Amino acid sequence: MGLFAADFAHLHGLNTIIFDSLNEVGGQPNWLYPFKQIADIPVFDSITGSDLIKKLHNNIKDKVTIQTNYSVEKVKKNTTGFKINDDYQAKTIIIATGVGSFKPKKFPLKSTPEINNRIHYYIQNPALFKNQTVGIFGGGDSALDWGVELSKYANIKLIHRRKEFRGLESSVRKLNTLDNVELLTPYLPKNMELKNDKLSIELREVGSNNLLTQNFDQIVVAYGFRSDNRLIKQWGIDLTPSHIKVDQEMKTNIDGIYAIGDAVNYPGRVPVIGLGFGEAQIAITAIMRQLFPEKTLTIHSTSI
Ligand SMILES: Cc1cc2nc3c(=O)[nH]c(=O)nc-3n(C[C@H](O)[C@H](O)[C@H](O)COP(=O)(O)OP(=O)(O)OC[C@H]3O[C@@H](n4cnc5c(N)ncnc54)[C@H](O)[C@@H]3O)c2cc1C
Repeated sequence: MGLFAADFAHLHGLNTIIFDSLNEVGGQPNWLYPFKQIADIPVFDSITGSDLIKKLHNNIKDKVTIQTNYSVEKVKKNTTGFKINDDYQAKTIIIATGVGSFKPKKFPLKSTPEINNRIHYYIQNPALFKNQTVGIFGGGDSALDWGVELSKYANIKLIHRRKEFRGLESSVRKLNTLDNVELLTPYLPKNMELKNDKLSIELREVGSNNLLTQNFDQIVVAYGFRSDNRLIKQWGIDLTPSHIKVDQEMKTNIDGIYAIGDAVNYPGRVPVIGLGFGEAQIAITAIMRQLFPEKTLTIHSTSI
């Protein structure tokens, strides 16, 4: 949402800087599902997460300053706006931190540095797994999406602790039709060791003591992410209980700080990209009204 908000802010003539704690912008679409075909973004029949981010990024190149590898940890109000980490001064702030700094839930078994090299939480280049056997652990959309994408390159074993998957039924149907994909449910990982250059993982069938050992070249862990909004609370922002509270103009309880995207919640909100784009437009329009109360605000891009 930050990328689109910056583009819309630039259109209104505002000087904008984007901060991202990761080494690349793009949030969840870029890191969690770069290869998934997103089918619910207006205008595109479908577009991959990675292509959507590329387009948003290209739109703001040369217009907006982007500071990656920069985690915003401190925000302090002063007479001219806000001090960010003692480094930057801004008149207004839009928080678009989504689920927070990405911290994947870790694979729960004891590991070694050698084994860790074969455990993945993000994948940028699935072709690296060509002709390998890959275990995917998890049962939500991420696990299913990785299953579909990686099956183009590798043999897949998808391991989930429940019989039913939590993700899209169409993805489960697709996986069921693929010869190089095996769905192993309901199983939990119990022990892991490196043996004959393979990651050998003992699985326990849930509800019984049946054990099954499977060998993998690599595993992908898709157990979800922990959100960390505690940081935001330290800035004095009201949360409800884990999301940011906003009014109809996306204003937080602190005058001058706005919030959009998955970081916020209100009755009826759904965590989708299209809605976040709209929230960015509401927030920038409110910021324009706050910064330039004397101006008659032009709303449509053709008149700005
Ligand atoms: C598997 C999966 C599939 C999905 N599929 C769809 C779909 O098909 N269609 C759809 O519309 N939506 C989909 N979504 C939801 C969509 O991805 C989110 O609604 C959207 O990414 C929210 O954008 P955001 O900018 O609010 O947050 P994010 O995408 O989470 O981006 C937040 C950014 O803020 C950065 N950040 C966090 N804290 C700090 C900090 N303190 N300092 C600096 N930077 C920070 C992070 O590094 C990150 O880059 C899906 C989500 C998942 C997980």
